[in-house]
This record gives sequence, C-alpha cells and structure tokens, in this order.
Amino acid sequence: MTFRWTEHRFAGGALALDVANSVILRSDAAKIVDRFAVPAQIAAFAEAATKLGAERDRFPTLIAPEAEKQAVFLDLREAVDDYFRAAIAGDDDGDDRLAGLLFACGTALRTFPLAENLGNATAHSALSLLAGETRERLRICGNCGWLFIDRSKNRSRIWCDMAVCGNRRKASRHYHRKKEAQT
Ligand SMILES: [Zn+2]
Repeated sequence: MTFRWTEHRFAGGALALDVANSVILRSDAAKIVDRFAVPAQIAAFAEAATKLGAERDRFPTLIAPEAEKQAVFLDLREAVDDYFRAAIAGDDDGDDRLAGLLFACGTALRTFPLAENLGNATAHSALSLLAGETRERLRICGNCGWLFIDRSKNRSRIWCDMAVCGNRRKASRHYHRKKEAQT
C-alpha cells in the first residue's frame, strides 16, 4: 500500500500539530510508525501541507529542511508533541517542557532562517499555539492519540477527524457489543 498525505493527515488544525502527528500511534510501542523516518516523506508532507494544511494561507510555500539539518526539525517535532501532549493531559512539570519547546523553537529559527522552510514555519506555528484561546482548545484524539484543535462551538470534539476516528470507534463499539451478545 502506498502512503499518501491525505486531508485526514492534516486534521490537527495547525501546522505544528500536523507535524507532531506524523508519528502514528505514539503510545503503542507495537504499532508506532514514524512517517518521517523516510526523509522523502518530509518533502512530500511540506508539499501536501501547502494544499491541505489549516495554516496554508499563513504558509503558502513550504520546503523541506535540508537533509543534513533534519535532526533539528525532528527535535522540534518531538518537543512540540512532548509539551502540548503533557499540557493537554494536565501533567504539570513546572516549566521544564515549555523550556524544552522554546529551546527547540529557537534552535529551529536559527537553523532555518527562511520563512518557507518547514522547520521555520513549524516553530512559528508552535509558538502561536501557546496563545490563550487556541491553547484552551487543544485536545488529544480519543481514538488515535493525535493532537488537534477543537474549533467546535461548544468545545466538545473528541475525535481528530469524525469521518475517520469517530466512525472507527463507533464501529468497534458495535463490534464488541455484538460479540458480547453472542457469548
Ligand atoms: Zn484521531
């Protein structure tokens, strides 16, 4: 099966979250997949984000970080996930994780001075997420564990993408109910 950066993969609602979500099923050691383990996928992501990403107006052109500097970009990705995932879950570690995120953003901005660089844009996107209103709307998908912004009116979204994760969860509940009824 060939992998494609479809609309679903940009369900995070912010570039920095979609970058963090390039690691699939982070919490499941048996199923975890890093889509950026193949460096060409970073370029494919950058291209797709300009068409499908929620911040495509803000970042209309994105190029992949230079191959020899990709480690800086991936460190930023991990810092984004680490900080926001813990913040959403209410894990309070003082400001250690925030310091880690700000350091990673600073390093990325120095390493990738061009605004078009995915490393630069991801840092800017992450810094915007720290602002009050958006910060309060950050969620972790109840099915796949992706990070996303809940832009619903009553702030009650629990799936990153209703069409994918919401339906999968419903189908699995239905399956288990049927199984229970049979036994
Ligand atoms: Zn999901």
